[in-house]
Amino acid sequence: MRSVQEALQEILTAFKVNTAEYVPLLEALGRTLAGQVIAKNDLPLFDNSSMDGYAVRAEDLVTVPSTLQVVADIPAGTAPNVEIGAGQAARIMTGAAIPPGADTVVPVEDVREADSSAEVKILKRGKKGDFIRPRGEDVKTGEALLAAGHVLRPQDLGLLAGLGISRVLVIKKPRVAVFSTGDELLMPDDPIVPGKIRDMNSFTIPAMVMSLGAEPIFLGVARDTVESVREKLLLAVEQGVDLILSSAGVSVGTHDVVKSVMESLGTIGFWRVNIRPGKPLAYGNVKGIPFIGLPGNPVSSLVTFEVFVRPAILKMLGQPTEAREIEVMVGEHMVSDGRESYIRVILRRGDGGRLIAFSTGTQSSGAISSLVKADALLVIPVGVTVVNQGDFLKARPFAGIGL
Ligand code: AMP
Ligand code: MG
Repeated sequence: MRSVQEALQEILTAFKVNTAEYVPLLEALGRTLAGQVIAKNDLPLFDNSSMDGYAVRAEDLVTVPSTLQVVADIPAGTAPNVEIGAGQAARIMTGAAIPPGADTVVPVEDVREADSSAEVKILKRGKKGDFIRPRGEDVKTGEALLAAGHVLRPQDLGLLAGLGISRVLVIKKPRVAVFSTGDELLMPDDPIVPGKIRDMNSFTIPAMVMSLGAEPIFLGVARDTVESVREKLLLAVEQGVDLILSSAGVSVGTHDVVKSVMESLGTIGFWRVNIRPGKPLAYGNVKGIPFIGLPGNPVSSLVTFEVFVRPAILKMLGQPTEAREIEVMVGEHMVSDGRESYIRVILRRGDGGRLIAFSTGTQSSGAISSLVKADALLVIPVGVTVVNQGDFLKARPFAGIGL
């Protein structure tokens, strides 16, 4: 049986970074940059006023109050061509370009506007550069701003727009085929039938794929027969996907057919990992396409997705594959069977701000509420069977809309 680390390494070797494509700016949200972004212009593009007020020469602000002659009116969006001389001022709006000759802005709050708009009385002293946003203050031409592998956020799109970039080179979304298996599965709208259950994995697994910025291709539910599973796998191959995910049918029950279908269509790397929840986990390839057969229990399939599938997808996206881990204090006695265990925990702040982990309750691999209530997965290392209140362990906090 593979350790978690061995299994993860074996899976990761099957993946490389996807190729890139240009997409319109707004569609680049959440996508991964394929190359670094270098500023091809300054921001701001020109010296401009940060206030509504008067553009003047600093030397006219030394002795106040003083009356200056207003020689121009500069709204935002215009290019001033009047030179401001000694004793002169230009009425200027926020964001408007500083006219030649002026080197300072006096906010409108610090002047008295005369009845005649040809004059303004300066009430407050000022110094050179006041209320001017100089060209290049924000971003300088040639500056490297965003690196390859960066996931684009709204503020990044703002920067790109400001730099005149309307199409962005991003990594192509990994395409991930997903199907559930099981004769017991009903859709949420189906009436309840004795012995049957509602299919959760057909929603959780595509949602996890989407939350990482990949594209799920949902193939529906296979019955627990060799023919049905085979048909889904061949459908996935036909779609030319980067990865195939199934759930359930990978343990040792008589109806667990995934393993034998894999053997006939491709190769099996392994089908058990020393992890809890999620020991039955099949990995191999189907006609050359990586295939991961996740366990059927909803919590097991999500936890093993988190541990094994997420890094594979991140690798295709050119992002770091390491999980973010924090150290937390264990808040209560917990037990494990010695497998590397991923306990669903709530994190609370204790005295001094330290994070303390408490079990969400039942840790049954079928209990979806254990994940719904959780803030993190607490990792009990392999070989450890008891942890006590006050012990320190690593936890993987959930972030964003994924686990
Ligand atoms: P299996 O690996 O097929 O033995 O499934 C393990 C457990 O997970 C069984 O209790 C199944 O009923 C349950 N299960 C399998 N697939 C799903 C699914 N898509 N949604 C919810 N539970 C499932
Ligand atoms: Mg089954």
